[in-house]
Amino acid sequence: MNVFIVNAHAEPRSFNGAMFRRAQDTLSADGHRVVVSDLYAMKFDPVSDRRNFSTVKDPDYFKQQIEEIYASEVGGFAAGIEAELVKAESCDLMIWQFPLWWFGLPAILKGWVDRVFAMGRTYGGDRFYGNGVFRGKRAMLSVTTGGPAAAYVAGGFNGDIHSILRPIHRGMLRFTGWDVLQPNIVYGPVRLSDGERESALNAWANRLVSIADEEPIDVGEY
Ligand SMILES: Cc1cc2nc3c(=O)[nH]c(=O)nc-3n(C[C@H](O)[C@H](O)[C@H](O)COP(=O)(O)OP(=O)(O)OC[C@H]3O[C@@H](n4cnc5c(N)ncnc54)[C@H](O)[C@@H]3O)c2cc1C
Repeated sequence: MNVFIVNAHAEPRSFNGAMFRRAQDTLSADGHRVVVSDLYAMKFDPVSDRRNFSTVKDPDYFKQQIEEIYASEVGGFAAGIEAELVKAESCDLMIWQFPLWWFGLPAILKGWVDRVFAMGRTYGGDRFYGNGVFRGKRAMLSVTTGGPAAAYVAGGFNGDIHSILRPIHRGMLRFTGWDVLQPNIVYGPVRLSDGERESALNAWANRLVSIADEEPIDVGEY
């Protein structure tokens, strides 16, 4: 497989950093071709505006989706955005490695989605959900939390983790056609012992060894 891993943690020695490296090492050792976007290391700019484009459709009024459709027609994405688009378009499996921030994506990864998942190129017309541009490709979230597993059940302190992840699973990934795999969630790594963290890293690696055989999940509706 061609695997594309997007990492959204600023500290390489963090647990997210360890998960990111373990995924690269495991998948590469298994013969997969791995490409990455390590967003903080790349100093990825998450601000979405005219900087997304090398072309201008309407110089008087900036409407992002109009510029996206035009850039899709004329090859007018900024070089850094075009590079990310090609990575997503070229992969069979995409993994997002991130810590849960405010029940969602860290801003650098949200900005990556805002800028890269462009209308015309990644969705639009009749290309949504099951008919989406990325149909046939698979995507998976690899998430860490601060709270423990018990806080992330329906009616619990924070609530059902799958409901919390649904805006990402449905609104970003399924919307653009990806088949979504079960998220890999490590709850509260800071609360775990070194041995438990090592077990979580090993479980991640073991899962990745057979990831090609996994079936997508139903991400649910609202
Ligand atoms: C802005 C913000 C918003 C947040 N919102 C939420 C929220 O909505 N919900 C929520 O639950 N949490 C939230 N958090 C907490 C956040 O999700 C957690 O702090 C994060 O997921 C922990 O992951 P980490 O990689 O940063 O852990 P780290 O603190 O980096 O790692 C935990 C421990 O693992 C150790 N470690 C690193 N590598 C290895 C290795 N190879 N083997 C063994 N141990 C290792 C580290 O040394 C450290 O002791 C938020 C945090 C911030 C800053």
